[in-house]
Amino acid sequence: MVLDSLGGSLRGALKKIASASRIDKQVVDEAVREIQRALLQADVNVKLVMNLSNRIRDRALSEKPAPGMNPREHVINIVYQELINLVGKSSPVTLEKQTIMLVGLQGSGKTTTAAKLATFFQRKGLRSAVVCADTFRAGAFDQLKALCEKQGVFFYGEKGNPDAPAVARRGLEASRKYDIVIVDTAGRHALEKDLIQEMMDIDAVVAADHKLLVMDAALGQQASEQAKAFNKAVGITGVIITKLDGTAKGGGAMSAVAETNSSVAFIGVGETPNDLERFEADRFISRLLGMGDIKTLIERAQETKVEEEVDVEALMRGKFTLKDMCKQMEAINKMGPLKQIMQMLPLGGMGLDLSDQEYQVTKDRLEKYRVIMSSMTEAELEDPKIITASRIKRISRGSGTPPELVRELLKSHKAMQKALKGMRGMNKMGMKRMMKKFGP
Ligand code: GDP
Repeated sequence: MVLDSLGGSLRGALKKIASASRIDKQVVDEAVREIQRALLQADVNVKLVMNLSNRIRDRALSEKPAPGMNPREHVINIVYQELINLVGKSSPVTLEKQTIMLVGLQGSGKTTTAAKLATFFQRKGLRSAVVCADTFRAGAFDQLKALCEKQGVFFYGEKGNPDAPAVARRGLEASRKYDIVIVDTAGRHALEKDLIQEMMDIDAVVAADHKLLVMDAALGQQASEQAKAFNKAVGITGVIITKLDGTAKGGGAMSAVAETNSSVAFIGVGETPNDLERFEADRFISRLLGMGDIKTLIERAQETKVEEEVDVEALMRGKFTLKDMCKQMEAINKMGPLKQIMQMLPLGGMGLDLSDQEYQVTKDRLEKYRVIMSSMTEAELEDPKIITASRIKRISRGSGTPPELVRELLKSHKAMQKALKGMRGMNKMGMKRMMKKFGP
């Protein structure tokens, strides 16, 4: 996905800046060329890439570093700012009571996104309802109903009734006591006349606070055309880009949306109901550059209500025992795929470069870890550093697990401890820390 490939190449370019002995035209040119290559590979429009390159070059060589910033930090900061400009404004959708109407072509991921969006708001503590005004696609009603029921989201639809505006009206009435009402509308294969008319009719009834266009990331640069056409037809207030996990070319759609003066409201990053993120330009770019995103991480932890089990504050202070690790792994299991979580960690976590396999803390493995830990002494659990080779043998025998697994558990603990060390102080010193990690 775009986060992996583009992020990797951009980090490579920044690393060059960070490790340069001095910042001069040659260093800047080289880094800019690398950034260009990375963005073009992610399908960002050539003109936008050229504009961005020129601005980085001009600013890097003419602007004076802000007080307290060295020349390397200064250039990295410029790259960071210009990338934020490239992806545009942050989500226009706020966390308050509202009605959202979803529009888009068939197959864009609209139905799935309706359920994801409701799930997103529910996680934020806002009670959500979904109204199925997609009376065109035969399977839409059942698909959406099933998704909503699974997520505990209120669903309204009228199977077999083709009168979409009437269904929308009754749906709104039925959802009156909910904070968020999401109205899913029908798509077509193309932006046809009857689709436009239907969207306008539903809109007249719903008078939505937001009309969000759902688009597939694979559209790439064509996203701008589609956003313009929908905007002209019904007036959109933002765009949801889906399936960013499935393409390395997602930069095309994202920058194209920004270019149309619209903004990306949410991004879809997977097939499960939790795989939707509110788009925040600076946060997205920080993550892309590996600057970490501790805010997202802690928010997620709070949403999944693991804060009572895991004392994030204590972890941040550096206390991290084996028991903490077990709790942490459980919490992470609840929060979502570890890989996704790790991507939100600052470079301290990223720098470890864990393989896919290492990311997978499956329930099975967690169970095994627990068995191993039951053969450890309190002192060992509190301070795993004291576990020597002979102790590993004893623990392995006692727990009936191979010694490699005991070593693996200890290795995971060390890796997580290191990642957590990287997290500490991130809030204040994001940029500084990143520099250090990039440094020679
Ligand atoms: P609709 O015709 O626009 O309502 O599209 P659907 O909601 O039925 O989605 C079409 C397909 O795209 C389904 O298989 C979804 O699971 C998939 N999909 C939607 N959003 C995402 C996403 O963010 N990532 C991935 N990988 N698949 C998605």
